[in-house]
Amino acid sequence: MQSILLITLLSIAAAVVTVTASADDYVFDYSDDDYRSVANSRNFTDKVVLVTGSSSGIGEGIVKLFSVLGARVVVTGRKEADIHRVAQDCQRLSPNKLKPLEVVADLTKSADLSTLLNETIKTFGKLDVLVNNAGIYPATTIDQTNLLQLWDQIFNIDLRAVVELIHLAVPYLEKTNGTVIDISSISSLAPMIDKLAYNSVKSSLDMLARVLALELGPKGIRVNTLNPGAVNVKSYTSDLSNDYIKATPLRRIGLPLDIAKGVAFLASTDASFITGANLVVDGGLVYNIGGFNIK
Ligand code: NAD
Repeated sequence: MQSILLITLLSIAAAVVTVTASADDYVFDYSDDDYRSVANSRNFTDKVVLVTGSSSGIGEGIVKLFSVLGARVVVTGRKEADIHRVAQDCQRLSPNKLKPLEVVADLTKSADLSTLLNETIKTFGKLDVLVNNAGIYPATTIDQTNLLQLWDQIFNIDLRAVVELIHLAVPYLEKTNGTVIDISSISSLAPMIDKLAYNSVKSSLDMLARVLALELGPKGIRVNTLNPGAVNVKSYTSDLSNDYIKATPLRRIGLPLDIAKGVAFLASTDASFITGANLVVDGGLVYNIGGFNIK
């Protein structure tokens, strides 16, 4: 008797599930137009993109690529002449010859961070993409005499300034369904024997993106990191270059454009379902970098 009752109840429950969860209630695909729009996903016309540390190296590559893709860009750093040189290149590369905003700012100064953001909003009226790229990477070990001085310097530029700028930018990014991309490193993933502070700070940056993804996702803001491997920039030339090439499965060192392409992907509508991710762009170096710790 009890088993008949149980079977009857299960049948009713199954019927209810069938009624409440019919296939018609789900969306299984986007429209044809959504598929077609992917062909246009790298068009950043009318988008405003701010990239810190864009007066040289990887940041310079990022503002140049966004200019090619039609965006209005903010070029910023500490040296006016470098900023101006990069801004001129951006204008030349921009399809509509858009003039970038040039801002001299020291990211360790709160007043400069406010000026950077206020000038951006005053000039362009909004912010769509914030790329926290500026960073320093001096060697540090636990036994060095000036360790804590360097530790504070690295954390102030590579992490504190990032947090402060995101804090200031959120109200504007909320209005545009904007996105944040922080330039981390494969140093966040694999320890290097002389990178005590840098390994620690870049790991924190990766976790920052994951935590902010939780807080800012419901506001429509995506937060990710891009983690480069070895990239040739003028401020840092390493006598390990040949060793890096050998250790990189794709057998070359990266250039700023390799990183900029990854940033443009994360900022694009192609990445509209990606947040809290740490995208490695390194030619595969991370899998061999541990070998550099063996003397
Ligand atoms: P870079 O020296 O060319 O660029 C660093 C930029 O940060 C410069 O424009 C500099 O002016 C700016 N900056 C530094 N301190 C600043 C401050 N106090 N205020 C304002 N701006 C400041 O070096 P890069 O290699 O292009 O570095 C860019 C980012 O890429 C960094 O976050 C770095 O950690 C990361 N990265 C670089 C490599 C690489 O191999 N080059 C690898 C992994 C990650």
